[in-house]
Amino acid sequence: MNKQPNQENRSLQETPCFICGSQNFIWGRTVGESSSQWVYFRADGAAWGEGEKLRARKCIDCKNIQLFTYD
Ligand SMILES: [Zn+2]
Repeated sequence: MNKQPNQENRSLQETPCFICGSQNFIWGRTVGESSSQWVYFRADGAAWGEGEKLRARKCIDCKNIQLFTYD
C-alpha cells in the first residue's frame, strides 16, 4: 500500500501534464456503458473485491488521460 501522506499525494496529482506540460485538467471517473460502473485497479495476486476505484484526470490541451487511485 501507498503510505505517503494524503497531502503529498494530492500535490503529486496536481503536477503538470507529462505529455504537454499543461495544468488545465478536468477531474472525473472512468465509467462503462452504465453510469454506475467503475473501473478498478487490482494488484496481481489480490483477491476479487480488493480492487481500488480509479479516478481520472483529463488534460484539456492534449486530451491525455491519467488514472489515479483514491487516497
Ligand atoms: Zn496535456
